[in-house]
Amino acid sequence: MVTTTDPSTAAAPALPQFSLELNDEQITLRNWVHEFAETVVRPAAHEWDEREETPWPIIKQAAEVGIYGMQFMAHLSADPTGLSLPIAIEELFWGDAGIGMAIFGSSLALAAIAGNGTPQQVGEWAPQCFGTAEKPQLGAFCVSEPDAGSDVGSMKTRAVYDEAKDEWVLNGQKTWISNGGIADVHVVVASVDPALGTRGQASFVVPPGTPGLRQGVKFKKHGIRASHTAEVYLDDVRVPGRCLLGGKERLDARLARAREGGKSHEQAALGTFEATRPAVGAMAVGIARAAYEWSLDYAKERKQFGKPIIENQAISFTLAQMRTEIDASRLLVWRAAWMARSRKPFAAAEGSQAKFKAGETAVWVTDRAIQIGGGIGYVREAPVERWHRDAKIMTIFEGTSEIQQLVIARAISGMRLA
Ligand SMILES: Cc1cc2nc3c(=O)[nH]c(=O)nc-3n(C[C@H](O)[C@H](O)[C@H](O)COP(=O)(O)OP(=O)(O)OC[C@H]3O[C@@H](n4cnc5c(N)ncnc54)[C@H](O)[C@@H]3O)c2cc1C
Repeated sequence: MVTTTDPSTAAAPALPQFSLELNDEQITLRNWVHEFAETVVRPAAHEWDEREETPWPIIKQAAEVGIYGMQFMAHLSADPTGLSLPIAIEELFWGDAGIGMAIFGSSLALAAIAGNGTPQQVGEWAPQCFGTAEKPQLGAFCVSEPDAGSDVGSMKTRAVYDEAKDEWVLNGQKTWISNGGIADVHVVVASVDPALGTRGQASFVVPPGTPGLRQGVKFKKHGIRASHTAEVYLDDVRVPGRCLLGGKERLDARLARAREGGKSHEQAALGTFEATRPAVGAMAVGIARAAYEWSLDYAKERKQFGKPIIENQAISFTLAQMRTEIDASRLLVWRAAWMARSRKPFAAAEGSQAKFKAGETAVWVTDRAIQIGGGIGYVREAPVERWHRDAKIMTIFEGTSEIQQLVIARAISGMRLA
């Protein structure tokens, strides 16, 4: 349709309630976390990647400035737009993903507690996932097992209720657990009724120092090496009845519904993953942006054949694609974060879309960054090879890219696709 109104003089139409501009508080948050990432995290990244150890001094520094702690997480979650959490995560992971995971790993346990626990349980256990600035603590979320990775329903860890003592007894083996064995609070997903698959599972808090929980092998990894990943063994671990997240009454009602063949949307592990997928997408965006910024600067500086390499379309178009993919990923992450905060159902698995796209983008962008760097992209003198190694986990943990596609395909088709 042709319009005859001169756009320069026409009164601006009333804007609908939609904006992609960050508000002042979000900008302040972004700048604050960015400064910490730039001045503390980045300079330490290479050292802790090589050491392959939990970077306690950096976690402590983060706690001292207020970037690690229950209060910080509560502040991020309170943003009614939902964007503060992905904004903070992106900046931190722009600094370094290994240290970023060491700092943000505890929030997986927090998400499980907040998503499944009663207000009293959240009040008791959530702060213990972080400790204080003087004595920071860690949380771990234990779902994966040697024979139950993508197939969470085949979990073998059992939780049996000892009615006489009002205690739950946990037995089983977990693997690939971030902060596993070194965390103060372990949230363990276990099967109460194996016949019901994921619907027969529940989440339990294992308080600090509980006998029977111990760390197995600590893994040497390809990337995010400053983040501790280990096996966790549970041998007759007894926890009080109040450690069942959500309480027994709610669990019994849910199991009864499931046994009658009724629908239940409460699934201990899957519910937590659904909530945390946009956050993982934000981690991936942070890594990808770091690699893109490095590549752009390098392509302008590096001269071959008498001109900066960016003057070759092969390079400039690659940078254009990198930027476009990153911005598209961020928009998907922000949409999912906004939907989650507004309690809009992920009808088309928008959380999975965000994680899937951002994870694949991080791997692709960091691969291209190495290519743009040439030799310097491949060696440890520059950070790009580390970013590439770090990016790969984003297509694996919290549901592989294949599983994200399965979740999306099921959501959009309404079919029980395999
Ligand atoms: C560094 C790291 C940290 C982790 N942190 C945690 C943590 O804190 N807590 C936790 O509980 N877990 C954690 N995990 C585990 C992670 O979530 C699992 O590794 C992941 O879910 C995949 O499970 P798996 O490794 O058993 O792979 P598998 O499930 O065996 O998958 C192997 C391959 O088969 C594919 N595949 C499987 N099923 C299908 C299907 N139906 N259709 C198509 N393809 C399929 C997968 O996509 C993958 O490519 C972590 C893992 C790593 C490596």
